[in-house]
Amino acid sequence: MSQIILSGRGVSKSFRGLKAIQDVDFDIPEGSIFGLIGPNGAGKSTLFNLITGYYPLTAGEIRFKDQDLSPLPTYRRNQAGIARAFQISKPFPALTVRENIRVGAMFGDASRAASEDTVEQALATVGLQDLADRTAEGLTVGALRKLEVARAFATRPTLLLADEPCAGLNPVETREMVECLRKVREHGVTVWLVEHDMKAVTSICDRIIVIDAGKKIAEGSPQEIVADPKVIAAYLGEPLEEAGH
Ligand code: ADP
Ligand code: MG
Repeated sequence: MSQIILSGRGVSKSFRGLKAIQDVDFDIPEGSIFGLIGPNGAGKSTLFNLITGYYPLTAGEIRFKDQDLSPLPTYRRNQAGIARAFQISKPFPALTVRENIRVGAMFGDASRAASEDTVEQALATVGLQDLADRTAEGLTVGALRKLEVARAFATRPTLLLADEPCAGLNPVETREMVECLRKVREHGVTVWLVEHDMKAVTSICDRIIVIDAGKKIAEGSPQEIVADPKVIAAYLGEPLEEAGH
């Protein structure tokens, strides 16, 4: 049995009257790749924002490595080991790929030598070695997305939250991103990702949580999720074979 690295109990968030997240429970085992799916506006990004501390909870509790996260501001949560890969990567355009990753590594605060090891490991993990000396401006969307994962990885997290890392990528880039997240996990990092591409999500995830209108409606293995009538009704619309994305 692996340890639970992140858990939520009764996690809730309201924006004025709108209940964006309602009473959601989760347990993320260390070393797993977890998925989070649901229709647009279901509350997926909000849930990640609650975990990183971008928003305070309205009710409930989130624990990371058995520590209540509520007193910790975002940067302290990052120092504790929670990293987030943003969908819109905003690298320093004039810096090279390697230099951009180094910024993440320095943020992860260690000696210069340890940082350099981390930078090279991050480059290899996402497969950007060949572009390491190119400036970030002019990178393709696929390469920018990998750079964003590498930057987050270089902060030496134990948990990586990735919000739609494959959005806008072509099928080849999507496969590469899936591979890249697998490699991140091979380095011992637990991954929780939001993803619309069902092929990507079912191929990579050990387990998936489904939310709809702020509520958790299902949790299970990819096979259980795609066969779950509630999930089909709320999200998939049709069995996976015909769900053309
Ligand atoms: P998803 O990522 O699943 O598409 P979001 O978490 O972005 O959904 O949004 C969930 C709901 O919360 C939506 O109705 C959205 O409009 C609302 N929401 C998100 N952030 C805010 C905010 N800062 N203020 C008010 N409403 C918000
Ligand atoms: Mg979102």
